[in-house]
Amino acid sequence: MVTRERNAAGIGMTSQRTRDRLVEALSAQGIEDKRVLDALRRVPRHLFVDEALESRAYENTPLPIGSGQTISQPWVVARMTELILENGVPERVLEIGTGSGYQAAVLAELVPEVYTVERIGALAKQARERLRQAGLRNCHVRHADGYEGWSAYAPYPAILLTAAPETVPEHLLEQLADNGRLVAPVGGSGYQELVVVDRQGDRLIQRRVAGVSFVPMLHGER
Ligand code: SAH
Repeated sequence: MVTRERNAAGIGMTSQRTRDRLVEALSAQGIEDKRVLDALRRVPRHLFVDEALESRAYENTPLPIGSGQTISQPWVVARMTELILENGVPERVLEIGTGSGYQAAVLAELVPEVYTVERIGALAKQARERLRQAGLRNCHVRHADGYEGWSAYAPYPAILLTAAPETVPEHLLEQLADNGRLVAPVGGSGYQELVVVDRQGDRLIQRRVAGVSFVPMLHGER
């Protein structure tokens, strides 16, 4: 299939003004970190959804991205990114659940290297292409089961899950660096707690920060 290059700058419902309005709404809803707000202002979310949905890309809502998956709501992306940056900018981040690639793109604006893992091959391929179109070269997409993490670049000072496991996967905690932070939606289907786990040596300190709703983290590749 030939994909034509899309307009990253945007016009009309994908214009900078429309993006600015979304950022103002997020700020009114408690997103305070200016670095994060600026990153959301810069990243063309419309490139990460199908062209048919482009005009809705700057609504504060999740949208379908194919293969039964969704691009996360901007508020959730912003909040999780704030939590990743809270103790300073990590030198690299591991994301589990690439999906559209949008969360990875927001991270790539703020963090030197982003490693992201997606279990669905078609989505991994599409995200790679979209990140390229957005001009982000510091994002590395891998098609694999995220329960294994990505050991080649471990340990990670920050790990972010955008699919929900029932409990925090052991393998991922093993790949979390000392003084590192893991952010994940944890729980059963439909509703989960957004959890922050901070590693201090052998100690893991866990707290809950919000109620969220993510697709489940599933086992195996397809
Ligand atoms: N971060 C994405 C939203 C992801 S939706 C975005 O910004 O668009 C969750 C994604 O996690 C889906 O694409 C789903 O296929 C993927 N996923 C689910 N279980 C996974 C696993 N074990 N490993 C890697 N990816 C997984």
